[in-house]
Amino acid sequence: MALIQHFIAGAEAGDAQRTGDVFNPATGEVQHRVIMASEADAHAAIAAAKAALPTWRATSLTKRADVLFRLRHLLAERKDELAAIITSEHGKVLSDAAGEVSRGLENVEYAAGLIEHLKGDYSEQISTGVDVHSVKQPVGVVGCITPFNFPVMVPLWMLASAIACGNTVVLKPSEKDPSAAVFLAKLFAEAGLPDGVLNVLHGDKVAVDALLDSPDVAAISFVGSTPIAKSIYERAAANGKRVQALGGAKNHMVVMGDADMDAAADAAVSAAYGSAGERCMAVSVLVAVGDAGDALVPAIQKRIDELVIGDGTDAASGMGPLVTAAHRERVLSYVKGAADEGAIVVVDGSQKQFDSDGFFLGATLLDDVPLNSKTYCDEIFGPVLAVVRVDTLEMAIELINDNPYGNGVAIFTRDGGAAREFEFRIEVGMVGVNVPIPVPVGSFSFGGWKNSLFGDSHIYGPESFHFYTRSKVVTSRWPRASSEPAGSKVELAFPGNH
Ligand code: NAD
Repeated sequence: MALIQHFIAGAEAGDAQRTGDVFNPATGEVQHRVIMASEADAHAAIAAAKAALPTWRATSLTKRADVLFRLRHLLAERKDELAAIITSEHGKVLSDAAGEVSRGLENVEYAAGLIEHLKGDYSEQISTGVDVHSVKQPVGVVGCITPFNFPVMVPLWMLASAIACGNTVVLKPSEKDPSAAVFLAKLFAEAGLPDGVLNVLHGDKVAVDALLDSPDVAAISFVGSTPIAKSIYERAAANGKRVQALGGAKNHMVVMGDADMDAAADAAVSAAYGSAGERCMAVSVLVAVGDAGDALVPAIQKRIDELVIGDGTDAASGMGPLVTAAHRERVLSYVKGAADEGAIVVVDGSQKQFDSDGFFLGATLLDDVPLNSKTYCDEIFGPVLAVVRVDTLEMAIELINDNPYGNGVAIFTRDGGAAREFEFRIEVGMVGVNVPIPVPVGSFSFGGWKNSLFGDSHIYGPESFHFYTRSKVVTSRWPRASSEPAGSKVELAFPGNH
């Protein structure tokens, strides 16, 4: 059985004292083992990134951009291979896995424009003979910690911009599906990235804590669940690091009575059950306004009946298994408890039979879910859609604004005034209007509000160029400038006379 190793300073490495199982979720079998970092492994990865920093930060912007252009080409060329790796360890269907690679490519494309994004500002003659300019310099070694659900896209959210800005990186991917990270690091190397600029460190809390506590790590980018995001934010910030920690979600989709109900039902099914609901932007609550629920609930039920759940490598499958048996059990506990909490169980996913030992679970649809139930309040992160019925848009907005999460939200309507009112008042970071999963394109930044983000910078796009750089402002005086006659008085600091 293959042992997946760290990738440090351009080579596979590691002390295999501790290892973890990597499953094929479609069969339930352990297919690989992954090395789990010791503190010594973590320090080796950080040291490699630190050693590579002086040369990489001094590498010209043109050469850095060249690497990203080549990477873009390689990712497009090897997309199917990468998608197959994702599916084999995560379980999502191949088309979804390929879609994830395409979305990650957007981040590489944006970062490849680094020559434009890293431009500074210049003010000439701000005072007599005095000019001021600002530059954006890398922050140093960046620790990137990523979740299981997008093993290619989420690392690319971070890596493309962090590396473009001249930083070096230690990536700690999820131990549940670690192979894609190593494949990515090798593609970066093939694209010309020097050894040590991108290192992959596998493992768990031991690896993460070493990154959070190391004085040689300047910044932390984290994406994962809310409790871990909060603890990462607090520990990294207490250690004086720059940190952005994106957390979990409970995303609502509002459907107004005037919406195109077929389009809304299609959108709800793909956004709730795609990738088995294991998406941070998955729709988990459908807020039906007025009588919208009367048409929507049966329309969604019909589509669930037609949904093919199976091995993600089978082109007929629309939904794959959950990532692990433990996660499946956790999701199942919500499905089994929903009726006792007062919900109407329209489709019970636990009743669906599968001819496989994989971590499969049927899609569940719940109606009239009480707002104080665990099913409504918790992030379930599985194929469970809760329907909540309200009378007015006003009530829908209040309900969503009361939720502690604020990652994504959507409204389906034909009324532009209602959509505008919703967009203006809703306290959520990413809003879709007749778009169920409003993940911003690569030239905008991604981020939620409230418990979905700790820190102030959103990820990828323009905000990442802010997060991964420090600005330096240079004030210079050349007293013999042509605008100033020779022999004029030299001003001391903070001159009052301009
Ligand atoms: P997770 O929080 O369990 O793990 C995320 C990362 O943190 C992994 O690399 C993991 O090894 C590490 N980790 C786990 N426990 C840790 C601990 N105690 N100390 C230090 N590190 C620890 O998340 P997950 O289950 O891999 O991913 C699913 C979660 O991620 C969901 O909550 C989902 O909403 C969220 N997510 C959010 C976004 C977003 O953009 N906001 C995107 C993707 C996923």
